[in-house]
Amino acid sequence: METTVSAQILDGKQLAKTLKEQLKKEVIELKSATGKVAHLINVMIGNDYSSCAYANSQKRVAEEIGLNYELVNLAQNVSQGELIKYIQKLNADPNVHGIMIHKPVPSHIDYHEVANCLDMRKDLEGINVANIGKMLLGETQIIPCTPAAVMEHLRSTGMSLRGKEVVVVGASEIVGKPLSLLLLREYATVSVCHIATSEAGKLQEHIGRAEILIVAVGKAELVKGSWIKNGAIVVDVGINQVKDGIVGDVEFEVARERASWITPVPGGVGPVTVVMLMRNGIEAFKQQIRK
Ligand code: NDP
Repeated sequence: METTVSAQILDGKQLAKTLKEQLKKEVIELKSATGKVAHLINVMIGNDYSSCAYANSQKRVAEEIGLNYELVNLAQNVSQGELIKYIQKLNADPNVHGIMIHKPVPSHIDYHEVANCLDMRKDLEGINVANIGKMLLGETQIIPCTPAAVMEHLRSTGMSLRGKEVVVVGASEIVGKPLSLLLLREYATVSVCHIATSEAGKLQEHIGRAEILIVAVGKAELVKGSWIKNGAIVVDVGINQVKDGIVGDVEFEVARERASWITPVPGGVGPVTVVMLMRNGIEAFKQQIRK
């Protein structure tokens, strides 16, 4: 008979605090060695309310760590050509060390084309093809922020990933796919589930095998707590606004009675993601001063 456990909480705010302290020290050391501080730029097109709230939290975290952070607002109707010219100007500016293009962008902007215009050493979110290719080869420390945050949560449990059955639900370019590469680098045995897994009626079966489960779909409580293997580590990336507030993709209250570790939503992956953006900024800075 399987025994039930009550999960320990993977507290994102606490983990973010620890990581911020480490980065703060690194920024001080780099400043005393070079006389400089990384300057990061977030290029936002238009100024919708939720984008501004996220940018404000980035600014706050950057300031806590001691980095320079600048939000640039371009007009909602900026053309693709004008935007690319602006990015090229930032690429050429030696006083700018990291650049991100705030999502969502208006529908007339081709995000991938713009992302691929970023100087790969300044690509704060690790989203241009050169950095994704380097990530596949294990040759860069600039990696997409949410997958990096998930890896930090897993690391904080002290559990080795080697040989573990890991199931990732969600295969987006920004979370599921890059995360599966990072997990492979740690020699986990990775299954990636997506919409077709659900359509085939196999989602529950895959989840039931997971010693480590990571869910990044964006559907409130898609994963039922009763599907989770006893003792599993559960990382819930999902953020879903429902009538009573924000919930994740996993049915938390039931899942916590089966899991060994679980992230809450909110307060799990989110706070660490923004710190990973700053870590990329410091890495980008180091690459540029090393040249
Ligand atoms: P996307 O919509 O880009 O991707 C969702 C993925 O889930 C796709 O691979 C999709 O497949 C798959 N999917 C959709 N429905 C199902 C289903 N029923 N069963 C299995 N797979 C399914 O989302 P993101 O990756 O950008 O974000 C996922 C969630 O994570 C969202 O809630 C988002 O808000 C949150 N998020 C949280 C962050 C944080 O820092 N905490 C950062 C980034 C995202 P297909 O495309 O084939 O339909």
